[in-house]
Amino acid sequence: MKRVVGLTGGIGSGKSTAADMLAALGASVVDADEISRGLTAAGGAAVPALREAFGEAIVPREGALDRAAMRSLAFSDPRARARLESILHPLIREEAARRLAAATGPYAVLVVPLLFETGFQAGRLERVVVVDLPEELQVSRTVERSGLDPREVRAIMAAQWPRWRRLQAADEVLWNGGGLGELRAQCERLHARLAARAGN
Ligand code: ATP
Repeated sequence: MKRVVGLTGGIGSGKSTAADMLAALGASVVDADEISRGLTAAGGAAVPALREAFGEAIVPREGALDRAAMRSLAFSDPRARARLESILHPLIREEAARRLAAATGPYAVLVVPLLFETGFQAGRLERVVVVDLPEELQVSRTVERSGLDPREVRAIMAAQWPRWRRLQAADEVLWNGGGLGELRAQCERLHARLAARAGN
């Protein structure tokens, strides 16, 4: 079975940027968030069950999941969040397994934003790579990219694992407090190591 490395980090830490760099080097990348977006888009496999569970205010008839409405409901109501996860996670896991089985690179990278928080695929991962950066930078990059205001970003960060805990659980760390060139150099070293291990 192909080796699978988990890639995670807080909101706006640079997971997608690092994953794109590893993909450009030849890794097979499977992104749980992208799978989730496909499942919850109009016609997506999770839409009927989500509409049944949360009603048309959250999943309009014939439409896609209203992600902003779902996010705020899940944020304020832990039971809604658990219900959402019980519907989505098995479907994400299934599709991720399908994509991983079809992966052709020397190893695969599974990008999961809330990897530690949800325990998603924990048993399947050989190592977990964490993208790390100072919180101030995390806030400013996320604000710039998303248009959320800094308070909203901090509230999301507060609901995720704190930085120290993620770092403690990491097998590898990609430092993204510098420029893109620095991140790329680290991705190149990581890729060389992971690709070499794949041969053994
Ligand atoms: P999310 O959790 O929201 O999905 P993410 O962890 O995938 O985010 P990215 O989208 O890769 O993070 O990066 C967040 C923003 O920061 C993007 O606009 C990206 O272009 C920018 N960024 C990432 N790394 C760097 C860097 N080293 N220097 C400057 N900008 C960066």
